Amino acid sequence: MDLGLTGKRALVCASSKGLGRGCAEALAAEGVDLVLNARGAAALEATAAEIRAAHGVAVVTVAADITSEAGRSAVLEAAGAVDILVTNAGGPPPGMWSDWSREDFIKALDANMLTPIALMQAVLPGMIARGWGRVVNITSGSVKAPIPVLGLSNSARAGLTGFVAGTARQVAGKGVIINNLLPGIHDTDRASALDSGVAKSEGISMAEARTKREATIPARRYGTAAEFGAACAFLCSQHAGFIVGQNLLLDGGAINATL
Ligand code: NAP
Repeated sequence: MDLGLTGKRALVCASSKGLGRGCAEALAAEGVDLVLNARGAAALEATAAEIRAAHGVAVVTVAADITSEAGRSAVLEAAGAVDILVTNAGGPPPGMWSDWSREDFIKALDANMLTPIALMQAVLPGMIARGWGRVVNITSGSVKAPIPVLGLSNSARAGLTGFVAGTARQVAGKGVIINNLLPGIHDTDRASALDSGVAKSEGISMAEARTKREATIPARRYGTAAEFGAACAFLCSQHAGFIVGQNLLLDGGAINATL
């Protein structure tokens, strides 16, 4: 299927590794020029070089913290007029409901709610003026079913989901389509960090922690960044113009729900 994206330009945040990189690669494979971002310059430059070599698209890099005002400004300035925005940032740390301070909540809200909202506010006017745009927010399965140790994520991402639900319907008539992708467990550094927490707290090996988690997933495995990226590219495609304000769960069936 031709996704109709050749020659478009995308800003993919937090994309040197993991799910963001999966989205960047899938868009590059469709002929989309990229602006990539992460804090660490070395991994970012390596990813950009690999994507240029594999897909022949133009790739601009901005090493910056996307959750900071200065970082966002630098990224948005380099990005200019983009057709596609994929928002992403690292997830908050696990913990206990009783331990989080106001500062912890503000940090999580900044990273996983207010940053994607600020990025949308920055690029939506241009997309509306040009009559075409796509936004995909990488959120979490925690929006559909809470993950007790990730209360900061449960809270911040629910706020973003509410913003998207209303805003997506305000801009869809202008050709601008916003949706959220909700990852369940995927094989990335983030998953290893979560497994390592389980291994430590339960006194088991990393392999045992992973096997234990896989047993809870009907697909009996972790998702891949490539699968995640393919779903993102489709939501950015010409064919997704009637999919508005949805929350698409990619979790191998882990959340046991009919709808
Ligand atoms: P990952 O493998 O750890 O990759 C995170 C990427 O984001 C890296 O490129 C990292 O590079 C960059 N990054 C992190 N914080 C950043 C910041 N403040 N500014 C700019 N770049 C930043 O993580 P992932 O698994 O792809 O997860 C992506 C998102 O999905 C996270 O919010 C995570 O909580 C959520 N999620 C993941 C899973 C899963 O199973 N993987 C499940 C549910 C939700 P630098 O460190 O160099 O900045």
